[in-house]
Parts: sequence; C-alpha cells; structure tokens
Amino acid sequence: MSDAAIIVAAGRGTRAGGDMPKQWQPLLGRRVADWTLEAIRAAGLSPIILVMHPDDMDTTALPEDVIRVAGGATRDASVRAGLAVLDPDCVENVLIHDVARPCLPPSVIADVRAALHGGAEAAAPGLAVTDALWRGEDGLVAGVQPRDGLFRAQTPQGFRLKPLIAAHDEHPGGAADDVEVARMAGIAVVITPGSEENLKITLPGDFLRAAQILQNRKEHMDVRLGNGFDVHAFEPGDGCWLCGIKVPHDQALKGHSDADVGMHAVTDAIYGALAEGDIGRHFPPSDPQWKGAESHIFLRHAVELARSKGYRITNIDCTLICERPKVGPHAAAMQARMGEIMDLPLDRVSVKATTSEKLGFTGREEGIAAIATATLVSA
Ligand code: MG
Repeated sequence: MSDAAIIVAAGRGTRAGGDMPKQWQPLLGRRVADWTLEAIRAAGLSPIILVMHPDDMDTTALPEDVIRVAGGATRDASVRAGLAVLDPDCVENVLIHDVARPCLPPSVIADVRAALHGGAEAAAPGLAVTDALWRGEDGLVAGVQPRDGLFRAQTPQGFRLKPLIAAHDEHPGGAADDVEVARMAGIAVVITPGSEENLKITLPGDFLRAAQILQNRKEHMDVRLGNGFDVHAFEPGDGCWLCGIKVPHDQALKGHSDADVGMHAVTDAIYGALAEGDIGRHFPPSDPQWKGAESHIFLRHAVELARSKGYRITNIDCTLICERPKVGPHAAAMQARMGEIMDLPLDRVSVKATTSEKLGFTGREEGIAAIATATLVSA
C-alpha cells in the first residue's frame, strides 16, 4: 500500500499576472510545476497524479512517471477526477497539493504522512495566525478580529483514500479545499506544522519570494555521506537473507534479526549520514520485540528519519563480501527490493559483491561482511 499524491494544476489563475497560467511560468530556470513535482517525488509519494486543464493535456512536457488527468471546472471536480484513477486496493493514503506551492519543504510532507501513519484519518498543515487581524472598510480599520485558534491553511492535505472518495461523493460541491469536504463527512483533521516557506504563488510578487527561497536552499544545500559496515557469522540453515532476498545456501546467517548483513550496512550508512548512531541504538538487541525482525523495518525507519530531518537519499552503494553464496545471479532482485523499500529508482541503488580471495574470516567462509555508502542531500 502506498501514499499517493494528487497535484491540482487545472486552474487558470490570472491574479499572478503573466501571459500563461502561473504553474507553467518560469521560476529559477524551471517551471513552477517542475519544482512542485520534484518536491513531491523526493518524498517518495507514488503514484503522482497531475490534474491539468484539458488544454494543457497534450502540450505539456512532464516526467514519464507523472499520470496526467484532465481536470474539471471547479477545484473539487478536479480532485474527484484525480481520485478516480487511484486504486483503493493499492493506495492507502492520498496527499492533495496545490501546484502553486513549489517551495514545499520535505518536513511538511513528512509530518502529514507521520500523522496518517500514526492513526489520524486526515492531516493537513496549518500556521497559527500571529499578526493582529483587522476588518477594514473604505481604507479605515473598522474592527479587530480575535486571532485565537485561527490558522492559515496549507497543502498537502492528507487523507485515507477510501473515506475521502466517499466524502467527495457525498459533497454538494463548492468546497474551498479537501479539509472542508472531509469535515462535512465527519472526518477529524489533525493540524500538522505548516511552513512560511510553503507559500502559494498568487500575486506577481510571489514569484520573486519563491525564487529567493529556492535559491537560498540551493546555496545551502547540505550533502552528507554515511558509511556502514556489518558482519554476521554462518550457522546451519538453508539460505541467507541478503539485501532483502533469501539466497539459497547450505548455511544461514546468525543474528538477532533476520541477519540481513547487506541491509544492515545500508541502514547504518543512512543513520551515519544523519549522525544518528546505528541500528542497535534505534532497535536495541536487548529488546525481545526485534528478535527475528525483518530488516526492512530498520531500513524503512532510517529512510523515514532522513525524510523527517529534511534529507533525501540520492544513492546507496552496498558491497557484500563472501566466497559463497554467489551474489551475481541475485543482484538485480536485491537492487529492486532495496529500491522498493527506499522509494529509490534502480539507477540510484547499487548492490555488488566481491570475495576476499579466500583470506580472513570471509575467505574461510565463517560469515559474510558488507560495507555500504549512502549519500543524502537536504531536499
Ligand atoms: Mg547486523
């Protein structure tokens, strides 16, 4: 089950100025929509649906993995068109985002997803209003509006897919956003932290503000490397878990968990890049609940930790060191499994193997060692 994204881009907003819709206008060398799509893709959301104006459907260049859907006359009609292509048997949650918010920080997405995975039926980012609020009439202050409990609503707004589809089916239309639709259906919506950077391009001056935020991020991009090393000894058995694949062998690897030495090295490389210790710190071997645990639990935790701290993994490289079993015939399957767990494309996941020329404990076939490197960048 995945978390999908619907990006609403069917509008023809004219307040932003320019001679084309704001989502297709340039922003720091790309289109506004390209920045938005990159932020969504970096979070590992899949599938990604872009709901477009019918006129844009055939004329707009987009990455291959983006699914184009023709939008309707209103925002909620467009969202319904996007929801219609999602398969509730494969998609658990859906995050709905305005295309005109291209500076979406990873932490905002991560907090919405964490709330959903923590049991919330719906979650959406908001910023508490801190300025005093006035009502104005004819250029004069006509009254003061209490700001207690007021929030500025942002996107992405996240929901369990099935209840949201039902809520849209029941709604008469005309809602400002999907939180309004969900609430009308009785769905409670958790408020997660929004961000001042997550601005919605609305007026001409917003392009400059967005460009400054993105430029500032580029200049302060933080690239981090981490390494991981792990060893597990052989014990009697019928195969070894290596990078998520059970490889038939005349022995098994011994360990508290499933002893997947390759996945452990990669997981430790990610923790290392974050200066977050190692697997043992997050999943103590002294805790019986991790006995026999499948190692993808550890790897997924490291990947989520990276996301929640504002980093995306750009590649990993893992080397398994053993005489036997032969890794080569299984390397492609390992690469695919590791990519699936980390939401990374195959050209960013390397799994390879070497022997130690019969030297040392790996050469004597007493166990298997693995080393791994991970690169993370601030997203
Ligand atoms: Mg280990």
